[in-house]
Amino acid sequence: MSFKLTILGCNSAVPTVERHPTAQLLNANERFFLIDCGEGTQVRLKEFQLNFQRINHIFISHLHGDHYFGLIGLISSMHLLGRNKDLHIYAHQELKSIIDLQLSAANTELNYPLFFHPISETNEQVLYEDEKISISNIILNHTIKCSGFIFKEKKSPRKIINVRIEEYNIPFDKYNGIKKGADWISDTGEIIKNNEITVENTPVHSYAFCTDTAYNEALIDKIRGFDLLYHEATFKKDLADRAKETGHSTTYEAATMAKKSAVKNLLIGHFSQRYKILDELLIEAKDTFRNTLLAESGLELDFNKLPS
Ligand SMILES: [Zn+2]
Ligand SMILES: [Zn+2]
Repeated sequence: MSFKLTILGCNSAVPTVERHPTAQLLNANERFFLIDCGEGTQVRLKEFQLNFQRINHIFISHLHGDHYFGLIGLISSMHLLGRNKDLHIYAHQELKSIIDLQLSAANTELNYPLFFHPISETNEQVLYEDEKISISNIILNHTIKCSGFIFKEKKSPRKIINVRIEEYNIPFDKYNGIKKGADWISDTGEIIKNNEITVENTPVHSYAFCTDTAYNEALIDKIRGFDLLYHEATFKKDLADRAKETGHSTTYEAATMAKKSAVKNLLIGHFSQRYKILDELLIEAKDTFRNTLLAESGLELDFNKLPS
């Protein structure tokens, strides 16, 4: 299925003119999931012609402002533009009273239902699930409670090869069982193995969003082999002590995490505003993990075209 990630913002605490605070949009088969919502996210969505009314689920990693200061603006614009369908927000509990206070101070009663789903700070669990995708939180290691998110497409049933349907005269009512793995018994009693009449369906995609966090080897088994890991790299490797103090990671640590967890691709972001040019961060990360990309505002990654 289609699986595309658009970077809306990639900077850490302080925005710059070119680089905005964290926000990403994941389009999984035309389901739109917003991940973090830093200041100005709604403007970025407009800039990249992404219709924010199509977003039904918003995931907020933690309550440092660079990850959610754009949320009330987005909630408010959705209201002003006549939204009436449900909006679901997944975040730590404290965010609910912040939103409630902001709305009540403005005497705003939303025209649409807003559902708040608190994220546990101690348990990792499925937050959202449908027939195509499941989304879970993972616990990160930051200066305040912080959650990463894991997006996993569910395995599609196998696809029946058309010419085999004709060859073996397979009736329609048997398709479902065969797609789920059943063998076929031909008219002459011959058992035709499932892998002779079906092929794997489109690949199953996986994405791990890990910001903000210090280097944390507990993540390795949770993200092993993923198609794409977004891992923060706030600092260059010479500032490893500063990274540790502030609950962040360096380029080297992000790349080491990618290497140890054998993900296919690494996307680094959450850059400190001290870095005017990001090439050196990319070079440092690539030294340890070759398939590294830089998160930049407007970057769109199609998982069907990523190196695998
Ligand atoms: Zn941050
Ligand atoms: Zn933070």
